[in-house]
Amino acid sequence: MLEKIVLSGIVTMGRRVYIKTFGCQMNEHDSERMLALVETCGYQETQNPDEADVILVNTCTVREKPEQKAYSIVGRFQQLKEKNPEVIVGLAGCVAEQGGERLLARIPTLDFVLGPGKIHKLPEILRDAERGKRGICTVGFENGCPNNLPIPHAAQLRAYVTIMQGCDNFCSYCIVPMVRGRERSRPSAVILAEIETLVRQGTKEVTLLGQNVNSYANNDPRELTFPQLLAKIDVIPGLERIRFTTSHPKDLTEETIEAFGHGGHLCEHLHLPFQAGSNAVLERMNRGHTREEYLAQIQRLREVAPQIGITADVMVGFPGEGDEDFEQTLELIRRVEFDGLFSFKYSPRPGTRAARWRDDCTLEVKQRRLEVLQELQRGITLRKNKELEETIQEILVEGRSRNSPHTMMGRTRCNRIVNFPGGSELVGALITVKITEGLQNSLRGESCG
Ligand code: SAM
Ligand code: SF4
Repeated sequence: MLEKIVLSGIVTMGRRVYIKTFGCQMNEHDSERMLALVETCGYQETQNPDEADVILVNTCTVREKPEQKAYSIVGRFQQLKEKNPEVIVGLAGCVAEQGGERLLARIPTLDFVLGPGKIHKLPEILRDAERGKRGICTVGFENGCPNNLPIPHAAQLRAYVTIMQGCDNFCSYCIVPMVRGRERSRPSAVILAEIETLVRQGTKEVTLLGQNVNSYANNDPRELTFPQLLAKIDVIPGLERIRFTTSHPKDLTEETIEAFGHGGHLCEHLHLPFQAGSNAVLERMNRGHTREEYLAQIQRLREVAPQIGITADVMVGFPGEGDEDFEQTLELIRRVEFDGLFSFKYSPRPGTRAARWRDDCTLEVKQRRLEVLQELQRGITLRKNKELEETIQEILVEGRSRNSPHTMMGRTRCNRIVNFPGGSELVGALITVKITEGLQNSLRGESCG
């Protein structure tokens, strides 16, 4: 409560909000939307929880570890509450959706819980909490996707745009359909208008977000298909780059694959999780695709766009995964030669089908398999980064590099980070660089002038 700010003509005392985010891009984007909403209530963001009037923890429950971290951080805010009982502490995200009222009973620090389907209710909740109301539980999903999702008003060079929410796939290990609800797509007209607004505010690159963007509006014959939506976005004046995540192999159509070959603003990078290399495991996972279908898609993608960067998610230690199954996962990784991989140890999630099966891979086996897999991928990533040496790449300059004040960083169309000597006047520019060195996690380059 340090300064006065003027908001829509009303003078309010400057109050501060601290947001801690766990989990995926969907959660990061939800945090951006929550921040935009609390800003309209007169709050400013702070990076320091000690000076916050409102603390929001945006949680993830896809695996057990982030869930435990979220509980422990909320517990730590108890001390802040002891010092200042006025501080409002809320828990948002997937843990909130799953735990609901029970969390309020279990964690005395908490003043409210807010599910991901009810983010638009945040101003109302804050108003009630400011008036002293406690124990507020707002969870569940409404029919359809809220269209009026707030757009962050600070200019963002790269912005997320939600195109659909929820998931209908029910992969047997996954809690997402339970905590994010069934699939709901936003109307294309609303999406296009949102992107136009972002571009007017200075956005050069958008990432379209959804748990399964390839099935955008699948149940609505009057709506655009996903590739048609991409084509409409491609012609928005001033937008330089388009990305999307996440894609599901069973819904990736030939038309979408071909969009990577059009040479427009769609960047040549696809994140296409495969989860496992063994058909027996894929079937138990209820993935709806085989390893052969996955490999055929990769081959097609590379025919259409030879430079395409391909990344994926993979899991080890799923119930019943034997050495032979794991070997097939390694073999698939060797065949595809991913540019990068996100790899996880299977963790049983309550309410999922797989949680009813025996978690028969020990933690040691999961750990060993994860290490073998990551070691294999590290070698592939480094080799592929080295193969880019001496090539010319287009990058969007994002800002200063973390490593040196005289170095700038940008991203290639295939999503590699490039650090290069340059000044901050380049931020937001699309420039070409020559790659001088391929490293494990990034590239070095020099501007082609
Ligand atoms: N919808 C996306 C998809 O289908 O790929 C992303 C879902 S999830 C948020 C991100 C990744 O977490 C999944 O691709 C999967 O590899 C991993 N994951 C999901 N459930 C898991 C579990 N129970 N244990 C370990 N990893 C899990
Ligand atoms: Fe979870 Fe599968 Fe849906 Fe992805 S597609 S969110 S892994 S159920």
